[in-house]
Amino acid sequence: HSERKVNFGPGPAQLPLEVLKNVQAEFLNYNGSGSNVMELSHRSSAFAKIIQEAEQDIRELLSIPESYAVLFLQGGATAQFSAVPLNFLNLKSSQTADYLVTGYWSEKAAKEAEKFGKINWVVPKSDKYRGVPAENTWKLTENSSYFYYCSNETIHGIELEDIPSIVPKDTPIICDMSSNFLTRSFDITKFAMVFASAQKNFGASGLVLVIVRKDLVEKNTNNSIPVTFDYKVQIANASMYNTPPTFSVYIANKMFSWTKRQGGLKSMNQLSDKKSKVVYETIDQSNGFYSNVIENKYRSRVNIPLRIMKDGTANEKLESSFLSEAVKSNMIELKGHRAVGGIRISLYNGVSLQETTKLVDFMRTFQKNNS
Ligand code: PMP
Repeated sequence: HSERKVNFGPGPAQLPLEVLKNVQAEFLNYNGSGSNVMELSHRSSAFAKIIQEAEQDIRELLSIPESYAVLFLQGGATAQFSAVPLNFLNLKSSQTADYLVTGYWSEKAAKEAEKFGKINWVVPKSDKYRGVPAENTWKLTENSSYFYYCSNETIHGIELEDIPSIVPKDTPIICDMSSNFLTRSFDITKFAMVFASAQKNFGASGLVLVIVRKDLVEKNTNNSIPVTFDYKVQIANASMYNTPPTFSVYIANKMFSWTKRQGGLKSMNQLSDKKSKVVYETIDQSNGFYSNVIENKYRSRVNIPLRIMKDGTANEKLESSFLSEAVKSNMIELKGHRAVGGIRISLYNGVSLQETTKLVDFMRTFQKNNS
């Protein structure tokens, strides 16, 4: 498959070749049905089996108890920026939710939530995200309806490995795990809800996975939620109130079973460690040629933004030549987000250690030739 490029994009991201080949083999005739999966009715027994298998696998991967619903919804993670406040803002007497804003995506979520009610920013707005302010500086609301944060800021490259310990035990915690979902294990019972877009670590865009505590959904008193955003309706209809994104669910099912075959989240965690370690080592050993400014403790293992420096400042000319030379070496999608510029290396589960090593070798050679 020499025509395949190595894709370090932030999402939609590269999928394992094994999964793509399997999908290709089933493309014209899924499991003897004589149809492609996207041509099957979402009410067919063949599709029911796909979505049920996907749910079983994710329940197994994350040890999700029956007290949580697993939903396959549409509109990506962005739709959840609205659905979360619509369903949960009135959960407690404060009718206020606490948002920890640590970068572009949690900021977007907080701003969307502000359309629906009172949102408290736990830390002041920043224009340079480099880490997370110390917990003892946070301002939490008394009796907050929920506490919201993003475990991995895809653009800024900031990852929170641990759940903030300062949040009171009885405050429901809601987390956007879009970009580091399935790269490590976590205890779902510590969360009221987590959600993740599919196009990074488990497949095709449009689909968002929602894992949510059923008892909290039951407590919801808002009767004017747009129907596709209403968790109560989605749970009652097993994600099929309307036609789900069937093909994306099919790919998610393939990715969950691939993840299991790799050895589950323990293996994914080790892989993530190894890949990010070689990249950060290359940055840190570059004598300042490559620069990543995130506090060590919060450096993301999944999205690594960097600048290429010359005479103490970021050098866009060098960065653009880095990008074009990378393309010549068959490595694509390394451009940083327009909000921060520079280079961004995304290391989702579908990117192998070998491919990461190839990039690191390229980085060292590029430095040698340009400094
Ligand atoms: N949250 C995070 C952390 C993301 O990285 C993204 C997408 N890059 C989103 C939310 C939005 O996801 P979508 O585009 O699928 O709505």
